[in-house]
Amino acid sequence: MSDGTIPSYDPQTIEARRQHAWHEQGAFRTPDIAGDRPRKYIKPSAPFTSGNIHIGHVRSYSIGDAYARFCRARGEEVLFAFGFDSFGLPAELGAIAGKESPSAWVDRCAQHMIGQLRRLGFSFDWERTFMSSDAVMYRWSQWLFLTLLDAGLVYRGTGSVDWCDTCQTTLATIQVENGTCWRCHDPVRLIQRPQWYLRISAYVEENDRRLSELAASGMWDENALASQRFVLGRVDGVELDLCAEDGATLTVFTPHSGALELARFVAISPKHPEVERWAGDAEVHERLEELRSGGLERSAREADAMPLIDTGRTLSSPTGGDPLPVIVSPMVDGRFGATAVLGIPEHDRTDAVIAERLLAPARVFQTPPDQPAPEGSTASQTVPSRAAVRYRANDFTISRQRSWGTPIPIVYCEKCGTAPVPREQLPVILPLDVKPTGAGNPLAERADFVETTCPECGGSARRETDTLDCHFDALWLWIPVCVPSREREQTLEHILALEDLRAWLPSERVVAGSDSGNFVFDQRTVTKALRDIGPLEFLEDGEPFAGCLFHEMVISDGRKMSKHLGNVVDPDELIERHGADTIRLAVLYAARPQRSLNWSDSAVQRCRRFLKQLWDYSQARFALDSAAATESGGANGSSAEAEQTATEMGADKTEHLRKRLEQWCETAVEKITEDLGELEMHSAVRNVMRLFDRIRDYEKRVIAKRGSLCAEDREALIAALAMLARVLIPFAPHIAEELLIASLPPGTSEIDTSWPAGELVSR
Ligand SMILES: [Zn+2]
Ligand SMILES: [Zn+2]
Repeated sequence: MSDGTIPSYDPQTIEARRQHAWHEQGAFRTPDIAGDRPRKYIKPSAPFTSGNIHIGHVRSYSIGDAYARFCRARGEEVLFAFGFDSFGLPAELGAIAGKESPSAWVDRCAQHMIGQLRRLGFSFDWERTFMSSDAVMYRWSQWLFLTLLDAGLVYRGTGSVDWCDTCQTTLATIQVENGTCWRCHDPVRLIQRPQWYLRISAYVEENDRRLSELAASGMWDENALASQRFVLGRVDGVELDLCAEDGATLTVFTPHSGALELARFVAISPKHPEVERWAGDAEVHERLEELRSGGLERSAREADAMPLIDTGRTLSSPTGGDPLPVIVSPMVDGRFGATAVLGIPEHDRTDAVIAERLLAPARVFQTPPDQPAPEGSTASQTVPSRAAVRYRANDFTISRQRSWGTPIPIVYCEKCGTAPVPREQLPVILPLDVKPTGAGNPLAERADFVETTCPECGGSARRETDTLDCHFDALWLWIPVCVPSREREQTLEHILALEDLRAWLPSERVVAGSDSGNFVFDQRTVTKALRDIGPLEFLEDGEPFAGCLFHEMVISDGRKMSKHLGNVVDPDELIERHGADTIRLAVLYAARPQRSLNWSDSAVQRCRRFLKQLWDYSQARFALDSAAATESGGANGSSAEAEQTATEMGADKTEHLRKRLEQWCETAVEKITEDLGELEMHSAVRNVMRLFDRIRDYEKRVIAKRGSLCAEDREALIAALAMLARVLIPFAPHIAEELLIASLPPGTSEIDTSWPAGELVSR
């Protein structure tokens, strides 16, 4: 800039230039694990290959990227990469709409999304990106399925699914619209069919217990902890053993320990391990079977229509009152898991509904429902009770009757029954030319897929045609980015033994949307399972993530963004108009991560103005400085007045101002460092903006004192602006680096992007 002209702020040009430079330098490649610097695996969410990056992604990745760049600048080794969650219904529906195969659809979507994310300048290691629908990757799901099956943590059971008779297919919840099929609009039924289940119940208690450790670490934010508590659905209460007429006993639970005398019935989950014992009567048993296998009207899911089976049996009252009738109802499951509970209508709305239907049709329980009963034992209690806990979190199905998912490595043989596919035969390949239409399961109609040989007897057998829900893929999706891409094709046994996994895990921080609670909970569960089975035994507490930040959503006009409401913000359009730095800065500036971001243009305008002013101001000062340096160092003696030093200008009237500026910079860097360490990006950005105000204020004061800046004043100003650029890198990396380059004295080209304070390691 020695000619003194000031380049105008042109985000499109400078952003392309920086992105090109990062690409050339391999700036964000994951470092080799040979080094001994501190390591951080920062885990972003795994996006669905939905077709487009939306503003919620921009928010999420801007937070994660700021943190990743900050950690790198502090000299830490950073792994920042993700895999696409590319199986599942959204892709299948997208492919149906686009009349192409799901594999072609997800490839196209992923390429487009990567292009968008690159344009935003996120510092992902693209070499480690993968798609869960690639055969070399979905063999992880198949391996995990077999491993959990061996350990008894995957099992076959019966579950209810939505079914459309017209389309002859099961439907996902989002495909059921007001009780009708999304495709043909005919009514939907709940049917029972055999399904594969994941036994998360085995680790629910440990997940609960570990929560206090995670909270104590200070690395899990309140949103994230709350989501884990919500998924657990822990209910504290008491349990007691009640006797039947024939001497049989049943352990029943209630959260209302102080109201045992108000118990009116006992409700058992149809999944309770002992339920058969209470359905001995032939007619009752038939009804139970009906409940399990027959169609259940969709409307029957509400409490007032949920099936109730009166078993005709009774249990003694815990307080010596009338015997309590025993009923079976699936209503227990969603509230307390597969257990048995006391029905206490005076304190519980659902129990009141059941009691009205079951016991006294004419009687209405007037007492306000859902009032917790007083603590402590009931006066007339005759049966001893003990403190107990129940969890709503329960085993769930992992199989789907769909063609775009990981094939389940199971075959059915007439002679041998259900046989797992041996691990050395993995992966079981999914045919890629399947074109789902929405009706039936096209995979089940493919003879070349279905017909196979039995791995045990060699006779003919049929493959399982259900596929794994993509939620199952998500159980391992956080692991493979720890594996160098050159190792990716190796056997899983080899991969899981790699030192890389031990070096990067647990992930230092998950940064994801607050709707990721279920994913994280189940990932915590499977980590504990793999710890106990062996492959992840080095994670002693079974926790995959040392820290977790759940940010809230981006909304518009106080409502969720949706095409239907016409309030969707298009990141591409915003970048086109303002550049990536402005958009990134705006989503960070507009709200704390823990709060919903109500989208408005004002944050964009504010950030755009800030960057433009910073650019113009800094460039003008750098150009002047550079011109001054050229002149004072010029060999042929320029005619321009040479720079005067403070001493030449007389008494140094501005030394205290320079000192104060230094102090301001120091304080600002301290605050920004602290904010970034706690992922308080909103506060960090504001502190960066404040520092700019202070720097301008300094210049004004110097001019007021002395009329112009002496060499020392100017030097202090340039140093402060360069420092500001360095701390701006995590938030607006393109403009920040361009400003740093402009701040360099003529003849130098190496910019210092290290963090100006609080270095963890010496470089
Ligand atoms: Zn239908
Ligand atoms: Zn066989």
